[in-house]
Amino acid sequence: MKLVALTSLKPPLELSIMDVLDIIGSILEEDYVSGCLEVDSEFNIVEGLELYWALEKLGVKYAPIGSGKCRVSLEDLGFYDNIVGPQHRVYYSPLELAVRGLPTPMVMLRSFSTESLRVWAKLEWFNPFSLSIKDRPAVHIVSSIAGKVNVEGKILADASSANFGIALAAVAPRYGAKARIYLPRRAGEHGRLVIELMEAETVRTEAELTVELLSRIYEDVRREGLIHVNQFMNDLNFEAHLKTTAKEIDYQARAVGLKLVGAAGSIGTSGHMSAINFYFRKRFKGSFKTITAQPAPGEHIPGTRRSETGMIWLAMIAEDFKIVDVTLGEALEAVGKVAREDGLLIGPSGGAALVALSKSLDLIGESGDVVVIVPDTGFKYLDLMKKWVEKKSA
Ligand code: PLP
Repeated sequence: MKLVALTSLKPPLELSIMDVLDIIGSILEEDYVSGCLEVDSEFNIVEGLELYWALEKLGVKYAPIGSGKCRVSLEDLGFYDNIVGPQHRVYYSPLELAVRGLPTPMVMLRSFSTESLRVWAKLEWFNPFSLSIKDRPAVHIVSSIAGKVNVEGKILADASSANFGIALAAVAPRYGAKARIYLPRRAGEHGRLVIELMEAETVRTEAELTVELLSRIYEDVRREGLIHVNQFMNDLNFEAHLKTTAKEIDYQARAVGLKLVGAAGSIGTSGHMSAINFYFRKRFKGSFKTITAQPAPGEHIPGTRRSETGMIWLAMIAEDFKIVDVTLGEALEAVGKVAREDGLLIGPSGGAALVALSKSLDLIGESGDVVVIVPDTGFKYLDLMKKWVEKKSA
């Protein structure tokens, strides 16, 4: 057996992450790859196409080549290489920063930790384009489309209430394309402004939810030949978080010896929490708990929505997923607590995740380390916070 760069191999056809999810699951579970790829003299894959795509979706650097039996650890395949950028933190482009500036930091929060249960916030506003977690799917989806078709001068379109729209508006021009963002009624003012500042098109609508805009986009795709990137259904969204967000948490926890017992977050497309849930349920063979906040009925927490409004990855793969109703008021209370006790201004969906965690301590147990995904910064929501502070003091 020998190891060769995965990028040097030529698969005869492409498989999607869902075609090879079982193989990915068992590799994560074992921490080993059992099996080799067979290639011809020109590195065309002759045997092991499914294993190749599982390795590609996992983001490993090397693949085992040979005939017969192979057994090699994920670490030896360069599993973590894609999430560890240069120490000097100098990048030749913002796109390189977005891809190689990882991992985003994890910081322990005094405000929500106890002596035995430590709560770690993964600060996703360290992503450079949208200052949010949504850079990850935007970069992965656009780079993948651009690797297959010429996007020069084309319009990449999607619905977004802010963060994904900003990320798409920033990333599309890096590939010579333009972006068009369909905004629901309650889209944040900052999002529209930034998207327009970047000279992407915005289409303001009266839709309550971003998903309601899909049929309108399908129609425009048909009439105008737009490319619909579709963060809601494109498996590359889920894949981006499996390849980076979840893997980073694993890497960071191992590096300092955390005893991960669970993760808490929030759901919009469900991309990041579905991937985290899948990854750690395989890695820790079920002993990991995933807790997710959703807005309580009639409540609006920016970037999130209720699970019954339809999320494909949650429905397909997310076993043992506890979903907790949270009000905007509760989320903002948590934001205030973190601001006072830790000095960090997190966004409301990060606050909601902390509330969901606090309501689930019976499930998590009393000791260990928990990661809370903080999708963006509270500095984007000063208007919302102002209204809430005024209402409270009235
Ligand atoms: N929080 C914020 C602020 C967001 O912008 C989003 C998604 O847009 C989410 C949470 C939910 O993330 P996901 O779409 O991965 O479920």
